[in-house]
Amino acid sequence: MRVRFWGTRGSIPVALTSADIRDKLARALVAASGRTFASFEEAHAFASSELDFSLTHTFGGHTPCVELEIPGDEYFVCDMGSGARPFGQHVLARQARRPATVNVFMSHVHWDHIMGFPFFGPAYVPGTKIRIHGCHDVLEHAFRLQQSPPCFPVEFDQLGAKVEFVRLQPDQPHVVGGMTVTPHLQLHGGDSYGFRFEHAGKAVIYSTDSEHKLENRQEAEAFAKFFRDADVVVFDAMYALAEAISVKADWGHSSNIVGVELCQMARAKHLMLFHHEPANNDATLEGLLKEARRFEELTRGDQALKVSAAYDGLEIDL
Ligand SMILES: [Zn+2]
Ligand SMILES: [Zn+2]
Repeated sequence: MRVRFWGTRGSIPVALTSADIRDKLARALVAASGRTFASFEEAHAFASSELDFSLTHTFGGHTPCVELEIPGDEYFVCDMGSGARPFGQHVLARQARRPATVNVFMSHVHWDHIMGFPFFGPAYVPGTKIRIHGCHDVLEHAFRLQQSPPCFPVEFDQLGAKVEFVRLQPDQPHVVGGMTVTPHLQLHGGDSYGFRFEHAGKAVIYSTDSEHKLENRQEAEAFAKFFRDADVVVFDAMYALAEAISVKADWGHSSNIVGVELCQMARAKHLMLFHHEPANNDATLEGLLKEARRFEELTRGDQALKVSAAYDGLEIDL
């Protein structure tokens, strides 16, 4: 199974600003002071091996859209945030005019998770099949509403694709196009659902927009069971722990540290921090990743947990 991150930001899309780029450049110059480079290749090698990720990359700014790829012709994708636009371009290029079949799994219908759909190119191609799966009874209403006048020029019924809404039952495994998917209810305004995807002996959890109260042992154990032995857990780590337990308690999101604790309880292999706070710049996000890695080292039992932060464009193979 391959996981491709098209959008990793929470709440609202953001872009790098001129000030961000100038700051990265200035910090890179300081890091390189006293060094000389005979060629572009030498400078490139220095940038790749010696500079922090946050100086040479960006986490990106698209809102949630995560693709899961398995052998076969069908597409699988979680959420239709603004990352659905580049995902759609990828689908169109790969299909080379053949209509696609796309299976969408919706955590919930908050705006940051549906806003990319009107810009999802394959939705305009006749013959395309789009099946939108989820556990909310408002699923179809929300998709139609955001494409109703006066908010968008193309109405839902004018789309070229055949769009079907499929209701899934929480805690029941469903087989969709060869992929087994099990939804699980999460604590979030208006409810959200995490998904456990299983294929060919691998398991990927997509768990965003979910607040955890680990002092509730029963709740923590239910999530540990849902995450059990997963190869990758994509996790809502919008806040730092201090924020999550003070000012932002009950805002419906979780933290990097809670992600480590739950994955350790579940003996999951790889935690992927996700749904990044739009106010955080690349350096702050890299800091949260380093903090989570330190916490994992300090609390490690007999099994190490790999910790990464998702970024737009990241691909991982399982
Ligand atoms: Zn969200
Ligand atoms: Zn939400």
